[in-house]
Amino acid sequence: MDTKRVRSAVDSLNYGWHRFSMLHFIEHIATVRQRPLHVNGVPLAGFSGMCLSTAHNDYIFYNLRYHAILQLHTQLHEIAHLMLGHTRKLDLDRNSDLGSMLLHINNRIRVAPNDPIVKQEEDEAEYFAIVVQGYIANHRRLHQLTLSDHADDIYMPPFTGNSVSGG
Ligand SMILES: [Zn+2]
Repeated sequence: MDTKRVRSAVDSLNYGWHRFSMLHFIEHIATVRQRPLHVNGVPLAGFSGMCLSTAHNDYIFYNLRYHAILQLHTQLHEIAHLMLGHTRKLDLDRNSDLGSMLLHINNRIRVAPNDPIVKQEEDEAEYFAIVVQGYIANHRRLHQLTLSDHADDIYMPPFTGNSVSGG
């Protein structure tokens, strides 16, 4: 995994972490990408989240059945996939959001879970989320991710991003 590339992707967002809330961050991502980002909770079994990039829109889906903290983590993880260019390009139905969405879903489903490229993308997305969480913690906005008023009183060492291994 190229941790430098992931860290520079986070830094290139030029986001004001002291203002972090998930909604504000999502709006910022849409501005950076210059296209609408639709974030939707769905009550489906057996998945935590997925993202789709169609001709004109970005979509993130997360599982409403999971705990709210995990829903927020999933949203960061899926934003990472969008920002790291992990969505696959499509040749068909460029003007049809629904058509390209269905094709894309099908494309992702066919990919084997132990595909090394998928594994690398998952590692990168998790690392992206960890870097973001580090910035959020350093700016005392962790309560926005943990839904706890006390989260920012817990000491967290300054985030360096050098001590993360895969897994
Ligand atoms: Zn993922």
